[in-house]
Amino acid sequence: MTAVVVIGAGQAGASLVARLRDAGYDGGITLVGDEPVPPYQRPPLSKKYLLGEMTAERLYLRPERYYTEAGIDLRLGTPVTGIDRAARTVTIGDEDLPYAHLVLATGSVPRRLPAAIGGDLDGVHEVRTLSDVDAMRPGFIPGARVLIVGGGYIGLEAAAVAAARGMTVTLVEMTERILGRVAAPETADYFRDLHTRHGVDLREGVGLERLSGDGRVHTARLGDGSEIGVDMVIVGIGIVPDTRLAEAAGLEIDNGVAVDAQGRTSDPAIWAVGDCASFPHDGARLRLESVPNAIDMAECVAGNIMGAGTPYVPKPWFWSDQYDVKLQIAGLNAGYDRVVTRGGGTAMSVWYYKGDRLLAVDAMNDPRAYMVGKRLIEAGKTADPGIVADPATDLKTLLTS
Ligand code: ADP
Repeated sequence: MTAVVVIGAGQAGASLVARLRDAGYDGGITLVGDEPVPPYQRPPLSKKYLLGEMTAERLYLRPERYYTEAGIDLRLGTPVTGIDRAARTVTIGDEDLPYAHLVLATGSVPRRLPAAIGGDLDGVHEVRTLSDVDAMRPGFIPGARVLIVGGGYIGLEAAAVAAARGMTVTLVEMTERILGRVAAPETADYFRDLHTRHGVDLREGVGLERLSGDGRVHTARLGDGSEIGVDMVIVGIGIVPDTRLAEAAGLEIDNGVAVDAQGRTSDPAIWAVGDCASFPHDGARLRLESVPNAIDMAECVAGNIMGAGTPYVPKPWFWSDQYDVKLQIAGLNAGYDRVVTRGGGTAMSVWYYKGDRLLAVDAMNDPRAYMVGKRLIEAGKTADPGIVADPATDLKTLLTS
């Protein structure tokens, strides 16, 4: 009997083992996670769970008994400490577990503020795991002063929840504008305006210089020399793929664990999925940090472990919830050379083009723009920018032309 060992019990690892069983794989499956809880959804962590509107159990992707019933050996709170590729074993505690196929679903780790600038003070939080959010909850109260470091989607979502909670929110983004890595200035303008209207003090072109405190953080000194009093700091300065085990095992690394079109690493017995994996795409390598990518890639690789031989073709989409705005993103905007916008006010969409080719759409409170954009992009079609920008255009007609 063959055995599959999956390292990492996040969304990707959980999706992979479930798909293996659903597809009829009847060999041994072990899912190893270093956190003490079964695989859970992350997106609600910094929203409903942080606000106490959702219990931890409701975050679980499947109830704990599922794993027993499906014959999946779920090892929680037990990090894998090494991979022996020659012996085909992984080390957990003092046990060496054999594998026929090993899957790395190790995800990513948040970048932290250096201890030298106060990053290790109490009251400084990242938003990644259940325990991160548990640590933040007691101080997440009306009237508390919170500094958010980083104006990506993680920082902006935290700002929205804090402002809605009645906290005094300052957000600093060190580059010239928020969402610089992921979105066009037009989308950034929309979210800047949204946050400002909700009372967030949003400062761009201002980094954090240092945090100080007496064990617990109480003051932040910013790059422009100003100082503000803070009760809590939330750090959203990006994440990096967790490649530590893969590197130590000598696997090829290239912006994450490098895999081939089917998801195999440079060792054919080892696969990688989700946030930690970079795969070939359009003549380059792509690594996606998103729930849909974790699920789709994991399901594709589960099939390949069973011999399907299917290349992974991502259908990128992403979402972010802030206040009463639902942002939905279809496609990937990398390499765009112009954008057109459609609508205005609270429902707006930003369409990214490279030459005549439609690459991506950011749709704010506009599910129709998202749906039409996604279908066009997935079909390899485009839409005339002038027609898209024309408010008189019924977007649905773009699908039939
Ligand atoms: P995430 O997906 O975690 O939100 P992004 O990389 O999209 O990550 O956004 C992180 C943002 O944090 C970037 O806009 C980056 O410029 C900003 N940033 C990084 N370091 C600092 C810092 N020390 N002070 C303020 N902003 C920072």
